Amino acid sequence: MPKFICVTGGVVSALGKGIATASIALLMKRRGFSVSPLKFDPYLNVDPGTMNPFQHGEVFVTDDGAETDLDLGHYERFLDEDLTRDNNVTAGQIYYSLIERERRGDFLGGTVQVVPHLTDEIKARVRKLALQGAQLVITEIGGTVGDIESLPFLEAVRQIWLEEKGRVAFVHMTLVPYIKTAGELKTKPTQHSVQKLREIGIQPDMILCRSDRKLSEETRDKIALFSNLPEESVIEALDVDVIYEIPLIFRREGVDDLILAKLGVVAPPPDLSDWEELVRVLKSLDEEVKIALCGKYVHLRDSYKSILEAFNHASFSNRVKVKLRFVDSEEVEREGAEVLLKGIHGLLVPGGFGQRGIEGKIAAIRYARENGIPFLGICLGMQVATIEFARNVLKMERANSTEFNPKTPHPVITILPEKKGVLYYGGTLRKGAYPARIKEGTLAHSIYGETEISERHRHRYEFNPEYLGAFEKGGMTASGLSPDGYLVEIMEIRDHPFFIGVQFHPEFKSRPMRVHPLFHAFVAAARKFKESA
Ligand code: GLN
Repeated sequence: MPKFICVTGGVVSALGKGIATASIALLMKRRGFSVSPLKFDPYLNVDPGTMNPFQHGEVFVTDDGAETDLDLGHYERFLDEDLTRDNNVTAGQIYYSLIERERRGDFLGGTVQVVPHLTDEIKARVRKLALQGAQLVITEIGGTVGDIESLPFLEAVRQIWLEEKGRVAFVHMTLVPYIKTAGELKTKPTQHSVQKLREIGIQPDMILCRSDRKLSEETRDKIALFSNLPEESVIEALDVDVIYEIPLIFRREGVDDLILAKLGVVAPPPDLSDWEELVRVLKSLDEEVKIALCGKYVHLRDSYKSILEAFNHASFSNRVKVKLRFVDSEEVEREGAEVLLKGIHGLLVPGGFGQRGIEGKIAAIRYARENGIPFLGICLGMQVATIEFARNVLKMERANSTEFNPKTPHPVITILPEKKGVLYYGGTLRKGAYPARIKEGTLAHSIYGETEISERHRHRYEFNPEYLGAFEKGGMTASGLSPDGYLVEIMEIRDHPFFIGVQFHPEFKSRPMRVHPLFHAFVAAARKFKESA
């Protein structure tokens, strides 16, 4: 019989519920269960694909091409498993499918309602994962208890609890703020949020208390009393520097034991020795390499979540700390690359959409190319690197992507013919996993150590194959192509120590224990550059 764990949050958003959910999932996996996480996002957008990074942060792409919430990235990294579109469901999707069914006449003239129709649809999405073989489905409900839009989701998991007697555990995460003027931690917001949950009919089995300092005995007792829980079910979740420490802390606090006891199952203790090693190493690194990340959303760290994590993985694999310098590409336009990039050992230009900051990225890439600084370009970063090369090496002065200048005389990046004319916004992107072939004897080949790869994409524009001859002659090689040889997936400069751009997003496939080879090699090259400087 499948079992269910449901994670909710209270008081404020951005408490790290996603990481908590991922940590519980990891602990359960290590205790021998097949685990499937499910993130419910209560907003009405169908997916985050067209949402502004300012509001949403990174869009995480799965192998099957779903544009998902960034929590899916945490789940994949912690579980070291590939997830699918079934692991992230939005209210928009639920309503959409319900309304489609209504239009088709599936309800035979009946009134379609939030309860039971919407809630049934939500429950079906949870049970789908159990039907796919998961012994444990861990549901995380986005947003905060008390939000109007999350009510149907809470009602649905309450019903699951009713129907699956004894096979459901509720975990509630809250904030216990420290009030400076009073000199103490305050439990009232937690009390209120638990009350809210109980009003809906959900009695949490555990409270995870986020706080920046230790909970006193008294604080714990108070939260336990008001939450109707034994004291050991009030868990302290202190702030940490390394997110990979959370599962270890949860283990010490007995989170997995409490959940299993609630679900009435016994399982051997988890082996977390590799995670202990990971955390020990990440906390003790002192040698540093400086890598600049030059993009448009550098003040919003969430927009580059997977890249930041991939660098953590490469820090671990290289045993060197990556110190990131966030460089705003528009600032490069104003102040010049030299001023902002001086002293770096590597440059990464990430993916992105739209014209803003492009010229700054071009200047930054030129600086890296001319100074032999290791460069990794991801998606837009790769496209811009080819524009820079076309302009400054191949002397095609007004070379550009048709995304930024539809009238450029040298459209080195463009929409390839078979994609033209598709107007459905958000529907024309190449998304998800595609295979590629790597040419032997190239930098890409030495990095991957193999010739067949599969990587995740999310873009509309491609390198224009008409220009390939000119690039090859000028010193930039297409070292990775689609199996039919048509699409350029990797570009590299032959006479540069490490200059590589990829049309895909390697960051989505990097894992703590299985760093992505491109990130590993890039950080290794940065260290070499540092040592030779
Ligand atoms: N804007 C570019 C395109 O659509 C790059 C997208 C990206 O970097 N993800 O092709």
